[in-house]
This record gives sequence, C-alpha cells and structure tokens, in this order.
Amino acid sequence: MGFEKYYEAFPAYSDIYSEEYRKRIETLEPLLLRYMPKKGRVLDLACGTGGFSFLLEDLGFNVVALDNSDVMLSKAKEFAKDRRSKVEFVKGDARKLPFEENSFDYVVFIDSLVHFEPRDLNSTFKEVARVLKPGGRFILQFTDLRALLPVLTNGQIVGAEYWISKVLPDADEKTVVLEFQSEKEHFRVRFNVWGKTAVELLAKLYFRQLHSERMNEHSYFQVYAPK
Ligand code: SAM
Repeated sequence: MGFEKYYEAFPAYSDIYSEEYRKRIETLEPLLLRYMPKKGRVLDLACGTGGFSFLLEDLGFNVVALDNSDVMLSKAKEFAKDRRSKVEFVKGDARKLPFEENSFDYVVFIDSLVHFEPRDLNSTFKEVARVLKPGGRFILQFTDLRALLPVLTNGQIVGAEYWISKVLPDADEKTVVLEFQSEKEHFRVRFNVWGKTAVELLAKLYFRQLHSERMNEHSYFQVYAPK
C-alpha cells in the first residue's frame, strides 16, 4: 500500500519530462510567476522528483528542496545531475524542518496535501511559518480530494495504463483507499480526503491569506503570509 508504487505508476509525479508532469508545470508556472515577483531563497516542500524545484531554479530562484522519500530524492538527484542543477536536495520531514527560522523568502507546497493528516498538517504549517522570513510567502496548491470522490467512484479517471477499480472510503470519510488496476497488477493507496477543510481551519492559525483561487473544479492555489 505504498505511495512510492503509486508514483512509479504515474509519471505525472515521477517523470519530470513526461507529458503529464509537464502539463502540471505549464498550468502552475504563470501563477508562480505572478505570486513570486521577487527572486530569493525558496523551499520546495515535499519536492518529490523535483520538477518544480528545477522550474524555480530556471526562473532565477535559489532553491532548497526537501522530501522524506529516498526513492523520490534519488530520482530528483538523477534529474539534477542531467540538468547540471544546483538545487540542494535535502532528506527531511515537513513536520520538523531542518532549517533555521527566518531563512526562506518562499515556501512552495505543491500537490502533497493528500499525504498529511490534520495533526501533521498543523506541525507542517507551524514549521513553514517558522522558516519563512518576515514578508515571506507560503504558496500552496492542492486538490480537494473529497470533492473529487464522486468522480472517482464513477470510475471516470484513468491515468497511464491504470484505472481506479475500487474506492473504499473509511466510515467518516477522513481517508479513502483507492485501488489502481492495470492489465498486469493492482495496488492500493490510502489518501487523506479532508485536506481543504483542514487548510481552512489550520492555515489561519499561522498565516494571513493573501490570495485564493480555484484552478479547476477540484484544485486550489493559495498564497499566505506568516502572521
Ligand atoms: N511537490 C511534488 C510535485 O508536485 O511533483 C511532489 C508531490 S508528491 C504527490 C508528494 C510528496 O510528498 C512525495 O514525494 C512524498 O514523499 C512527500 N512527503 C509526504 N509526506 C512527507 C513529509 N512528512 N515530509 C516530507 N515529504 C513528504
């Protein structure tokens, strides 16, 4: 039931040169450019294989990228070598960041909310507020998985060679197990579905919201300043 299997199966998260990953970058790039007007030091939090870290480096930012998965980080480092990138990849936990306070102009947290339970998200937001400089910005992009559930239940979403064969919510719909099926195999992954509600409740403890927009039916882009 590992996330790493899921990433391996879906190039949208693992292969920064895939059409699916590039599409995510193309969609977000204009928003990042608009809401990150001054160059500076960026933390790409839960960076995965680093596609957004490299984008920000190419745009002139000084990028540190953190993830807790060895598999994702080793792929990111391979991409970095190919690109002669100077992004500093760090293994660490978003809930306890190995950085000093006031050390980043921006923290970007892209498409990772489904991994975080409320308690973890609370620690993560607290840490983001700690490491941001005064006047810094927290850039958050996430999918509202709860809103997406009915679509998944109808079996309409198919990615790469996999389709969703089962949607198994827990009793109070705080998490959902999705079963992905291909011609050859199937695997299950548990996701958190309460992300949007948790952001609404927790972000205001640590941040002031500067901007929020709906990127599409199920996806949000938000900008916060530390309080
Ligand atoms: N931001 C990247 C992107 O958009 O391609 C990666 C998104 S991927 C869906 C989520 C990432 O969050 C994974 O690489 C996973 O290893 C990482 N992650 C999950 N929990 C974490 C934690 N507590 N601390 C750091 N990284 C974490």
